[in-house]
Amino acid sequence: MINKGRKLLVIGAHSADFVWRCAGATAEFTRRGGNATVVALSYGERGESGELWKQAGQTEANVKRIRHEEAATAAAIVGADFIAMDLGDYPLEIGPAAMTQLVELIRKMAPDVIVTHADRDPFNPDHGAASAAVQRARMLSTGSGVASAFDIVKPSDLFLFEPHQTEMCGFVPTTYVDISEVFPLKMRAMEAMKAQQYLRQHYAERAEHRANQARRITGSKDIRHAEAFQRVYPQVIDSL
Ligand SMILES: [Zn+2]
Repeated sequence: MINKGRKLLVIGAHSADFVWRCAGATAEFTRRGGNATVVALSYGERGESGELWKQAGQTEANVKRIRHEEAATAAAIVGADFIAMDLGDYPLEIGPAAMTQLVELIRKMAPDVIVTHADRDPFNPDHGAASAAVQRARMLSTGSGVASAFDIVKPSDLFLFEPHQTEMCGFVPTTYVDISEVFPLKMRAMEAMKAQQYLRQHYAERAEHRANQARRITGSKDIRHAEAFQRVYPQVIDSL
């Protein structure tokens, strides 16, 4: 179990964001014995639940209930815990209390890896806000990697998961994760997000495209599905 004792924290603006963009990497992380936690800053109840709002008599409370169930189910499929902060979406506002909550969560969990949104997303008002908040909370919980006036945890690796339209979000992949083995779990997790079924095919195809590139990069013929990530900080290794 190569990941035994290692902790992954995935933080998305909306409850389903992690499913499309890193359910595979999360499943692979837990398959190798690591612990994963998914945090949804909001349920995406206003901006990403359009299918649910087509039902007559729909209420915000009911949309949130459904979104919670779907995300918790999807997280369980890939072996992760699910935490909902329910901060509201469109707009997602991360005020001082929520920032403190986020910092405390990172400090308590002390993750080895944090994954969140790309810095900007011209198609979505909440994704960039989530990325900025997560990066700020990470720094507030780790200091600058040196002794500080407050309790700090070891700096985690920080990755950005792939946005919907990569080139518009300044996303440059630096890291591919081979999710071939766990791709059926990603499909099941995507199927659990019934309010956004229109994204399933798109992200299944994206995984094939990234796998094609991963095969070319490595020469490995076995990679059938992959997810792309952008590393924010340089990687420090013992030897080339
Ligand atoms: Zn979203």
